[in-house]
Amino acid sequence: MTDAPTSPVRVRFCPSPTGNPHVGLIRTALFNWAFVRHLGGTFVFRIEDTDVSRDSKESYDTMLDVMRWLGLDWDEGPEVGGPLGPYRQSERYDIYEDVAAQLLAAGRAYHCYCSHAELEERNARARAEGRTPGYDGHCRDLTADQVSAYGAEGRQPVVRFRMPDNTITFHDLVRGEISFASEHVRDYVLVRANGHPLYTLVNPVDDALMEITHVLRGEDLLSSTPRQIALYDAMAEIGVGSGKTPQFGHLPYVMGQGNKKLSKRDPESSLLGYRVRGFLPEGLLNYLALLGWAIAEDRDIFSMDEMVESFTIDRVNPNPARFDMKKCEAINASHLRALSVDDLAERVIPYLQAAGLVADPVSPPERALIVAAAPLILERMTTLGEAVDMIGFLFVPEAEFTVDLDDAAKLLESDGVAVVRAAYDALNVVQSWDTPSIELALRTKLVEEMQLKPRHAFGPVRVAVTGRRISPPLFESLELLGRERSLSRLSLLLVG
Ligand code: GLU
Ligand code: ZN
Repeated sequence: MTDAPTSPVRVRFCPSPTGNPHVGLIRTALFNWAFVRHLGGTFVFRIEDTDVSRDSKESYDTMLDVMRWLGLDWDEGPEVGGPLGPYRQSERYDIYEDVAAQLLAAGRAYHCYCSHAELEERNARARAEGRTPGYDGHCRDLTADQVSAYGAEGRQPVVRFRMPDNTITFHDLVRGEISFASEHVRDYVLVRANGHPLYTLVNPVDDALMEITHVLRGEDLLSSTPRQIALYDAMAEIGVGSGKTPQFGHLPYVMGQGNKKLSKRDPESSLLGYRVRGFLPEGLLNYLALLGWAIAEDRDIFSMDEMVESFTIDRVNPNPARFDMKKCEAINASHLRALSVDDLAERVIPYLQAAGLVADPVSPPERALIVAAAPLILERMTTLGEAVDMIGFLFVPEAEFTVDLDDAAKLLESDGVAVVRAAYDALNVVQSWDTPSIELALRTKLVEEMQLKPRHAFGPVRVAVTGRRISPPLFESLELLGRERSLSRLSLLLVG
């Protein structure tokens, strides 16, 4: 929660709790959040859970969890409440019913009895005659007799909104002036025949009642904007909401592989995937910010404070943004490198715990070892999850430590075993177990005496003690692992 708003600006983030949060959705949340934090307004978080067949509690929980993980805090909404709630649409059905009734009474909406088959047939005819298909206003002005005839047939009507006949023009905050001719925006359904209200009704009703001043959302929703603008006019007339139509801004598409729109199903879309891999919230948000916005030319790395400081909607680029995983990773890596050793250690702990390598809660000696290892991996990591592979060897109990012999075979052919034996002898007599002494002992023995190239000298030792061909720097790793464990791992390969 932030301080009391210093600006009347109110934005909303209003996901439907279906499936898992994806990149496009969170980019929308981020832009709304940065926009309203910059201005000192109010961030409303609303749950659009009116699709009983697709909404799930799990998805709702995940949504809140992801928002919290990212630090995208909300001022009104689930769990925090607020003066204009409830903030879950499933708790607002009486409101929608009431507004629909008022729109009908004012003649801004009407009952439509057309069946699906009839609509299809008239659309087909329109196409055949070269006219634009779409609802033709058939039920706009039914007589009382026609209505009772339909009723006698047992037909249940939908509620349809009566669109005005004029062209609708608005100024989009991202794309400039946009016009929709009325023939392309026909009367549309607000309430199903079974009485269930649709997105077309509930979304603008809530925006009006929650006094939303700016609607920032994906370009895929652009075509619903003229309908909503007309509905706002009608709501102003019947006294629902403040009577002011919000300003709209449509954020650019995000393109994935092969210049196709990034789909919710693409693996790089999954927010949870980033968390599992160990992206930092600040790294991921920094990258998502670049999907349509830039803090400055030639500058990619910034903090969320800096984004809030300089975010304005006029700098959002209307052109499609391209999702680039390599860049996303590189940006995350930069944020990782900027962490303090202690902070990195803290953030790595849950990943080591998830891999079963350290206890939960972590013990003081385990924490000390993580802190000691952190400087070795800080510069080498892209995501926190990589710590499991990089320093996991420090936490594996000796009884469970194994070397993947297939992986090691290349380095541990007969001369590799000889190297390991020589390393064992050299390390066995090191006086003080610290990085410089370890390095001196191994260099003297393997490089000077045995005349091995460093790669041939240290590769087998690395595999023997870490179980991997790639690890943090070897001498430091040996120091952290300790004399006893290092020697026991080396000897394991000599007997085996
Ligand atoms: N619940 C809608 C969606 O997730 C909101 C669309 C909007 O922002 O108007 O697509
Ligand atoms: Zn009809």
